Amino acid sequence: MTFEEFNIDERLLEAISYMHFEKASPIQEKAIPVAMEGNDVLACAQTGTGKTATFLIPILQDLVTNGAHGFTSLIVVPTRELAIQIDQELQGFSYFTDTTSKAVYGGDKGMDWDEQKRALTEGTNVVVATPGRLIAHLRLGYVKCNNIRHLVLDEADRMLDMGFIDDIRQILGYIPKKRQTMMFSATMAPEIRKLANSILVEPQMISIAIAKPAEGVKQSAYMAHPYQKIDLITHILAQNPDYDSILIFTSTKKLIHSIVNSIHNHIKGVTVEGISSDFEQNEREEVLLRFKAKQTRILVATDVLSRGIDIKGINLVINFDVPRDAADYVHRVGRTARADAKGEAITFISEADIPKFVRIETLIEKSVEKLPLPQELGEAPIWKIPAEKSKKRFYGKRKNGKRNFFRRKSDKENSKKGNPKQ
Ligand code: AMP
Repeated sequence: MTFEEFNIDERLLEAISYMHFEKASPIQEKAIPVAMEGNDVLACAQTGTGKTATFLIPILQDLVTNGAHGFTSLIVVPTRELAIQIDQELQGFSYFTDTTSKAVYGGDKGMDWDEQKRALTEGTNVVVATPGRLIAHLRLGYVKCNNIRHLVLDEADRMLDMGFIDDIRQILGYIPKKRQTMMFSATMAPEIRKLANSILVEPQMISIAIAKPAEGVKQSAYMAHPYQKIDLITHILAQNPDYDSILIFTSTKKLIHSIVNSIHNHIKGVTVEGISSDFEQNEREEVLLRFKAKQTRILVATDVLSRGIDIKGINLVINFDVPRDAADYVHRVGRTARADAKGEAITFISEADIPKFVRIETLIEKSVEKLPLPQELGEAPIWKIPAEKSKKRFYGKRKNGKRNFFRRKSDKENSKKGNPKQ
């Protein structure tokens, strides 16, 4: 389906074409018409599906056709990186219109605060904000919210994970009840549905499969002891000399520095930098800019970057360790192969990480190929799936008459066979 078929304003179409969007993605095809009719929307879609345009285009279409007076549209997101990225995409779509926008997020400099305050008092039309900073402005009383007619909660599951639920409820207290609300989430956990039930009115449900990595990502894994991982990176780089943009994820901030140093010391001539939430905002932006510009070949990051961040042309994602949350795997891997491109994701699995990786394979409904560790790296740990607890069932009574809810089927079979232990 092309964007012309949505019947949207010429100025938006022109911008869309400048952004090289030719065909609508599946979520856009389903949700844009529904949102353009003014419905509330509850969409289950991961990043990389084109969800940002899915809410931005209907908002802008409404603003250009029905007029924009002051602060009309609020987009709440979990991280500053996502706020900046959505604002950039918004500036692209609204290029030929009079719509104004501002990203409002916690910064390190007073200057950011003053600029945000100015934008919020002068009636910027679309504000993309992180919850904490937005509330800080709202509490000071100078933000006029009475014209807000669109509210988007993006990556709602992430916001709940990060403990923003009370902040979201506070924000809702400032904005008019009569509005269009759109909520996007990568998962539809019960608490997301609960939040949706309390803030959406007769929402249209849009779901794009379950959260799975995009088709274009080639996924594989190595079983590896922690001490083998840096050598494994050396091996992978030697095999793929043409990969010029590589993102390495680790779950622990503490590891970033040592991974960066080890790569720096072991692999000659490679440019590598690290980024985590401990970095100052301007430092994070500069590191990201260098990576986007391909001045830095390898970026080592925590999961802060795994959601939402849109950097085109990442050839390879390496999971230095297995993420705790299976959905984070999908988000990490989704940093490559953005919007139909091809990409590769390789995960390093230590023995202790096996149960977490099994949960990931269950979530993505796929067994990821385990590649043999190069011989020169020594013995790899063995991939052995731990006994599955969920298979435990109630099959009878114990000798003492108490019910045993946790005996395995095999126990029952053994007892039938007259196993002496029974
Ligand atoms: P998102 O899921 O919104 O983060 O989008 C992922 C990436 O796909 C971004 O770089 C978008 O600019 C791009 N994108 C979104 N929709 C389309 C489309 N219909 N055609 C081409 N690229 C798109």
